[in-house]
Amino acid sequence: MSINITSPKVARELMSSYGIAPLKKFGQNFLVDGNIADKIANAALPQDAGNAAVIEVGPGLGGLTQRLTTRAAQVAAYEIDAGLVRSLKDTFEGVENFSLFHQDFLKADLEKELTPIFGEADIYVAANLPYYITSPCIMKLVESGLNIKRITVMIQKEVAQRICAMPGSKEYGSISAAIGFFADAKMLFSVSPSCFYPKPDVYSAVLSIEMKQYDAEKAEQYSKTVRGLFAKRRKTVRSNLRQSFELTIGQANAIIQKAQIDENARAETLNVNDFARISEEIVNIQKNIEN
Ligand code: SAM
Repeated sequence: MSINITSPKVARELMSSYGIAPLKKFGQNFLVDGNIADKIANAALPQDAGNAAVIEVGPGLGGLTQRLTTRAAQVAAYEIDAGLVRSLKDTFEGVENFSLFHQDFLKADLEKELTPIFGEADIYVAANLPYYITSPCIMKLVESGLNIKRITVMIQKEVAQRICAMPGSKEYGSISAAIGFFADAKMLFSVSPSCFYPKPDVYSAVLSIEMKQYDAEKAEQYSKTVRGLFAKRRKTVRSNLRQSFELTIGQANAIIQKAQIDENARAETLNVNDFARISEEIVNIQKNIEN
Protein backbone atom coordinates (compact mmCIF):
# COMPACT_ATOMS: atom_id res chain seq x y z
CA MET A 1 0.00 0.00 0.00
CA SER A 2 1.59 3.24 -1.09
CA ILE A 3 -0.77 5.91 0.27
CA ASN A 4 0.15 7.88 3.37
CA ILE A 5 -3.11 7.94 5.31
CA THR A 6 -1.92 10.25 8.06
CA SER A 7 -1.23 13.01 5.54
CA PRO A 8 -4.06 15.58 6.07
CA LYS A 9 -4.48 15.86 2.30
CA VAL A 10 -4.79 12.08 1.75
CA ALA A 11 -7.16 11.75 4.72
CA ARG A 12 -9.41 14.46 3.27
CA GLU A 13 -9.34 12.85 -0.18
CA LEU A 14 -10.19 9.44 1.24
CA MET A 15 -13.12 10.90 3.15
CA SER A 16 -14.47 12.73 0.16
CA SER A 17 -14.18 9.76 -2.20
CA TYR A 18 -16.14 7.56 0.24
CA GLY A 19 -18.60 10.31 1.18
CA ILE A 20 -17.41 10.25 4.79
CA ALA A 21 -17.66 13.19 7.19
CA PRO A 22 -16.23 12.76 10.72
CA LEU A 23 -19.04 11.69 13.05
CA LYS A 24 -19.07 13.18 16.52
CA LYS A 25 -21.30 10.40 17.84
CA PHE A 26 -18.51 7.87 17.15
CA GLY A 27 -15.77 10.10 18.60
CA GLN A 28 -14.08 10.48 15.22
CA ASN A 29 -10.97 12.62 15.42
CA PHE A 30 -8.57 11.20 12.86
CA LEU A 31 -4.85 11.27 13.52
CA VAL A 32 -3.21 13.30 10.76
CA ASP A 33 0.34 13.38 12.07
CA GLY A 34 2.61 10.61 10.82
CA ASN A 35 5.24 11.12 13.55
CA ILE A 36 2.70 10.54 16.30
CA ALA A 37 1.37 7.44 14.52
CA ASP A 38 4.95 6.11 14.31
CA LYS A 39 5.54 6.85 17.99
CA ILE A 40 2.36 5.00 19.01
CA ALA A 41 3.17 1.96 16.83
CA ASN A 42 6.74 1.86 18.19
CA ALA A 43 5.57 2.14 21.79
CA ALA A 44 2.84 -0.46 21.29
CA LEU A 45 5.05 -3.29 20.10
CA PRO A 46 8.34 -4.68 21.34
CA GLN A 47 11.44 -4.52 19.07
CA ASP A 48 11.16 -8.19 18.07
CA ALA A 49 7.41 -8.06 17.38
CA GLY A 50 7.54 -10.43 14.44
CA ASN A 51 5.20 -12.98 16.02
CA ALA A 52 2.96 -10.54 17.83
CA ALA A 53 -0.78 -10.21 17.36
CA VAL A 54 -2.40 -6.79 17.59
CA ILE A 55 -5.92 -5.65 18.38
CA GLU A 56 -6.85 -2.19 17.18
CA VAL A 57 -10.05 -0.52 18.36
CA GLY A 58 -11.45 1.99 15.86
CA PRO A 59 -8.98 1.95 12.94
CA GLY A 60 -10.79 4.89 11.28
CA LEU A 61 -9.13 5.60 7.92
CA GLY A 62 -6.25 3.26 8.82
CA GLY A 63 -3.32 5.59 9.57
CA LEU A 64 -2.16 3.69 12.66
CA THR A 65 -3.31 0.36 11.19
CA GLN A 66 -0.94 0.85 8.28
CA ARG A 67 2.01 0.98 10.69
CA LEU A 68 0.78 -1.99 12.73
CA THR A 69 0.36 -4.34 9.76
CA THR A 70 4.00 -3.81 8.76
CA ARG A 71 5.27 -4.57 12.28
CA ALA A 72 3.14 -7.47 13.57
CA ALA A 73 2.20 -10.98 12.46
CA GLN A 74 -1.55 -10.35 12.69
CA VAL A 75 -3.73 -7.28 13.19
CA ALA A 76 -7.43 -7.53 14.01
CA ALA A 77 -9.36 -4.27 14.00
CA TYR A 78 -12.88 -3.41 15.18
CA GLU A 79 -14.65 -0.53 13.45
CA ILE A 80 -18.26 0.47 14.09
CA ASP A 81 -18.76 2.89 11.18
CA ALA A 82 -19.99 1.40 7.88
CA GLY A 83 -18.46 4.20 5.74
CA LEU A 84 -15.03 3.69 7.27
CA VAL A 85 -15.35 -0.07 6.88
CA ARG A 86 -15.90 0.39 3.14
CA SER A 87 -12.82 2.54 2.87
CA LEU A 88 -10.68 0.21 5.05
CA LYS A 89 -11.66 -2.82 2.97
CA ASP A 90 -10.33 -1.13 -0.16
CA THR A 91 -7.24 0.36 1.49
CA PHE A 92 -6.19 -2.96 3.01
CA GLU A 93 -7.24 -5.21 0.15
CA GLY A 94 -4.63 -7.94 -0.23
CA VAL A 95 -3.00 -7.24 3.15
CA GLU A 96 -3.08 -10.80 4.40
CA ASN A 97 -2.30 -10.22 8.06
CA PHE A 98 -5.23 -7.80 8.49
CA SER A 99 -8.72 -8.85 9.71
CA LEU A 100 -11.51 -6.33 9.98
CA PHE A 101 -14.60 -6.70 12.15
CA HIS A 102 -17.45 -4.32 11.36
CA GLN A 103 -18.68 -4.28 14.89
CA ASP A 104 -19.15 -2.33 18.12
CA PHE A 105 -16.02 -3.27 20.04
CA LEU A 106 -17.91 -3.23 23.34
CA LYS A 107 -20.20 -5.99 22.06
CA ALA A 108 -17.45 -8.14 20.54
CA ASP A 109 -16.79 -11.67 21.78
CA LEU A 110 -13.01 -11.31 21.74
CA GLU A 111 -12.15 -14.84 22.77
CA LYS A 112 -14.36 -16.42 20.12
CA GLU A 113 -13.42 -14.03 17.31
CA LEU A 114 -9.70 -13.70 17.91
CA THR A 115 -8.52 -17.16 18.98
CA PRO A 116 -8.85 -18.58 15.41
CA ILE A 117 -6.70 -15.73 14.07
CA PHE A 118 -4.20 -15.21 16.88
CA GLY A 119 -3.77 -18.74 18.25
CA GLU A 120 -1.40 -18.61 21.22
CA ALA A 121 0.45 -15.44 20.16
CA ASP A 122 1.24 -12.63 22.57
CA ILE A 123 -1.32 -9.90 22.09
CA TYR A 124 -0.71 -6.15 22.03
CA VAL A 125 -3.39 -3.49 21.78
CA ALA A 126 -2.92 -0.19 19.97
CA ALA A 127 -5.61 2.41 19.50
CA ASN A 128 -6.56 6.01 19.19
CA LEU A 129 -9.67 5.36 21.24
CA PRO A 130 -13.03 7.01 20.69
CA TYR A 131 -13.21 9.31 23.71
CA TYR A 132 -16.86 8.59 24.55
CA ILE A 133 -16.07 4.98 25.51
CA THR A 134 -12.49 5.19 26.79
CA SER A 135 -13.03 3.58 30.18
CA PRO A 136 -15.30 0.70 29.09
CA CYS A 137 -12.89 -0.14 26.23
CA ILE A 138 -9.88 -0.22 28.56
CA MET A 139 -11.72 -2.23 31.22
CA LYS A 140 -12.98 -4.73 28.62
CA LEU A 141 -9.41 -5.33 27.46
CA VAL A 142 -7.85 -5.44 30.92
CA GLU A 143 -10.48 -7.85 32.27
CA SER A 144 -10.69 -9.94 29.07
CA GLY A 145 -8.52 -12.82 30.26
CA LEU A 146 -6.82 -12.82 26.82
CA ASN A 147 -3.06 -13.17 26.55
CA ILE A 148 -2.59 -9.39 26.38
CA LYS A 149 0.89 -8.10 27.23
CA ARG A 150 0.49 -4.37 26.71
CA ILE A 151 -2.23 -1.87 25.86
CA THR A 152 -1.10 1.39 24.24
CA VAL A 153 -3.89 3.89 23.80
CA MET A 154 -4.29 7.52 22.94
CA ILE A 155 -6.99 9.03 25.11
CA GLN A 156 -7.99 12.38 26.59
CA LYS A 157 -5.06 13.67 28.64
CA GLU A 158 -7.23 14.32 31.67
CA VAL A 159 -8.44 10.70 31.68
CA ALA A 160 -4.86 9.44 31.30
CA GLN A 161 -3.88 11.49 34.34
CA ARG A 162 -6.79 10.02 36.29
CA ILE A 163 -5.80 6.47 35.39
CA CYS A 164 -2.21 7.06 36.55
CA ALA A 165 -3.22 8.95 39.72
CA MET A 166 -2.10 7.91 43.19
CA PRO A 167 -4.56 7.08 46.02
CA GLY A 168 -5.58 10.17 47.99
CA SER A 169 -5.09 12.57 45.07
CA LYS A 170 -7.98 14.51 43.55
CA GLU A 171 -7.77 12.56 40.26
CA TYR A 172 -7.73 9.07 41.83
CA GLY A 173 -10.91 7.15 41.16
CA SER A 174 -12.45 3.80 40.44
CA ILE A 175 -10.72 3.42 37.05
CA SER A 176 -7.24 3.84 38.61
CA ALA A 177 -8.05 1.32 41.33
CA ALA A 178 -9.74 -1.10 38.92
CA ILE A 179 -6.82 -1.21 36.48
CA GLY A 180 -4.20 -1.46 39.24
CA PHE A 181 -5.01 -5.10 40.01
CA PHE A 182 -4.32 -6.17 36.44
CA ALA A 183 -1.72 -3.78 35.14
CA ASP A 184 0.70 -0.89 35.62
CA ALA A 185 -0.24 2.24 33.72
CA LYS A 186 2.04 5.10 32.75
CA MET A 187 1.67 8.15 30.56
CA LEU A 188 4.14 8.27 27.67
CA PHE A 189 3.59 11.65 25.97
CA SER A 190 1.02 14.37 25.29
CA VAL A 191 -0.48 15.05 21.88
CA SER A 192 -1.71 18.45 20.72
CA PRO A 193 -5.23 18.92 19.23
CA SER A 194 -3.54 20.10 16.00
CA CYS A 195 -2.51 16.47 15.25
CA PHE A 196 -6.14 15.51 14.55
CA TYR A 197 -8.84 16.18 11.99
CA PRO A 198 -11.17 17.55 13.20
CA LYS A 199 -9.30 19.13 16.12
CA PRO A 200 -10.68 18.03 19.50
CA ASP A 201 -11.20 20.64 22.26
CA VAL A 202 -8.71 19.00 24.59
CA TYR A 203 -5.18 17.61 24.69
CA SER A 204 -4.65 13.88 24.32
CA ALA A 205 -2.03 11.60 25.82
CA VAL A 206 -0.66 8.19 25.01
CA LEU A 207 -0.92 5.73 27.83
CA SER A 208 0.96 2.46 28.19
CA ILE A 209 -0.77 -0.21 30.26
CA GLU A 210 1.60 -3.05 30.98
CA MET A 211 -0.33 -6.17 32.02
CA LYS A 212 1.06 -7.98 35.07
CA GLN A 213 0.63 -11.42 36.59
CA TYR A 214 -2.60 -11.49 38.58
CA ASP A 215 -4.71 -14.09 40.29
CA ALA A 216 -7.44 -14.75 37.70
CA GLU A 217 -9.72 -16.41 40.27
CA LYS A 218 -9.76 -13.26 42.39
CA ALA A 219 -10.13 -10.82 39.53
CA GLU A 220 -13.92 -10.76 39.24
CA GLN A 221 -14.49 -10.20 42.94
CA TYR A 222 -11.78 -7.51 42.98
CA SER A 223 -13.55 -5.59 40.21
CA LYS A 224 -16.89 -5.93 42.03
CA THR A 225 -15.29 -4.64 45.22
CA VAL A 226 -13.85 -1.54 43.54
CA ARG A 227 -17.19 -0.77 41.87
CA GLY A 228 -19.06 -1.33 45.12
CA LEU A 229 -16.77 0.82 47.25
CA PHE A 230 -16.79 3.71 44.78
CA ALA A 231 -20.58 3.50 44.34
CA LYS A 232 -20.98 6.60 46.53
CA ARG A 233 -17.62 8.36 46.38
CA ARG A 234 -18.31 10.75 49.27
CA LYS A 235 -19.40 7.95 51.63
CA THR A 236 -17.12 5.85 53.79
CA VAL A 237 -15.96 2.36 52.93
CA ARG A 238 -18.22 1.08 55.73
CA SER A 239 -21.30 2.72 54.27
CA ASN A 240 -20.55 1.52 50.74
CA LEU A 241 -19.83 -2.00 52.02
CA ARG A 242 -23.24 -2.10 53.67
CA GLN A 243 -25.16 -0.76 50.68
CA SER A 244 -23.34 -2.41 47.79
CA PHE A 245 -22.94 -5.83 49.38
CA GLU A 246 -26.06 -5.85 51.59
CA LEU A 247 -24.11 -6.34 54.81
CA THR A 248 -25.00 -5.48 58.39
CA ILE A 249 -23.00 -2.86 60.23
CA GLY A 250 -21.36 -5.65 62.24
CA GLN A 251 -20.26 -7.48 59.09
CA ALA A 252 -18.96 -4.26 57.51
CA ASN A 253 -16.97 -3.44 60.66
CA ALA A 254 -15.51 -6.95 60.75
CA ILE A 255 -14.30 -6.62 57.16
CA ILE A 256 -12.73 -3.23 57.86
CA GLN A 257 -10.97 -4.58 60.91
CA LYS A 258 -9.67 -7.76 59.30
CA ALA A 259 -8.52 -5.91 56.18
CA GLN A 260 -6.77 -3.40 58.46
CA ILE A 261 -8.42 -0.35 56.95
CA ASP A 262 -8.97 2.91 58.82
CA GLU A 263 -12.56 2.77 60.06
CA ASN A 264 -13.44 6.14 58.51
CA ALA A 265 -11.62 5.52 55.23
CA ARG A 266 -13.17 6.36 51.89
CA ALA A 267 -12.44 4.39 48.71
CA GLU A 268 -10.44 7.25 47.18
CA THR A 269 -7.71 6.78 49.83
CA LEU A 270 -7.26 3.02 49.32
CA ASN A 271 -4.57 1.39 47.22
CA VAL A 272 -4.73 -1.84 45.21
CA ASN A 273 -3.61 -3.99 48.15
CA ASP A 274 -6.29 -2.47 50.40
CA PHE A 275 -8.98 -3.27 47.83
CA ALA A 276 -7.58 -6.79 47.43
CA ARG A 277 -7.73 -7.46 51.21
CA ILE A 278 -11.26 -6.07 51.48
CA SER A 279 -12.24 -8.17 48.49
CA GLU A 280 -11.00 -11.33 50.21
CA GLU A 281 -12.81 -10.48 53.43
CA ILE A 282 -16.08 -9.91 51.54
CA VAL A 283 -15.74 -13.42 50.08
CA ASN A 284 -15.06 -14.85 53.56
CA ILE A 285 -18.11 -13.15 55.07
CA GLN A 286 -20.32 -14.24 52.18
CA LYS A 287 -19.12 -17.85 52.64
CA ASN A 288 -20.01 -17.64 56.34
CA ILE A 289 -23.46 -16.31 55.49
CA GLU A 290 -24.08 -19.23 53.11
CA ASN A 291 -23.06 -21.84 55.70
N1 SAM B 1 -7.58 5.10 14.55
C1 SAM B 1 -8.07 6.21 13.78
C2 SAM B 1 -7.06 7.32 13.80
O1 SAM B 1 -6.18 7.28 14.66
O2 SAM B 1 -7.18 8.24 12.98
C3 SAM B 1 -9.45 6.71 14.26
C4 SAM B 1 -9.52 7.14 15.68
S1 SAM B 1 -11.05 7.91 16.13
C5 SAM B 1 -10.56 8.77 17.57
C6 SAM B 1 -12.00 6.59 16.86
C7 SAM B 1 -12.44 5.50 15.91
O3 SAM B 1 -13.20 4.53 16.65
C8 SAM B 1 -13.33 5.94 14.77
O4 SAM B 1 -12.92 5.31 13.60
C9 SAM B 1 -14.72 5.46 15.17
O5 SAM B 1 -15.60 5.23 14.11
C10 SAM B 1 -14.38 4.19 15.93
N2 SAM B 1 -15.39 3.74 16.92
C11 SAM B 1 -16.20 4.52 17.68
N3 SAM B 1 -16.94 3.77 18.51
C12 SAM B 1 -16.59 2.48 18.26
C13 SAM B 1 -17.02 1.22 18.79
N4 SAM B 1 -17.96 1.17 19.75
N5 SAM B 1 -16.48 0.09 18.31
C14 SAM B 1 -15.52 0.15 17.32
N6 SAM B 1 -15.09 1.31 16.79
C15 SAM B 1 -15.60 2.46 17.25
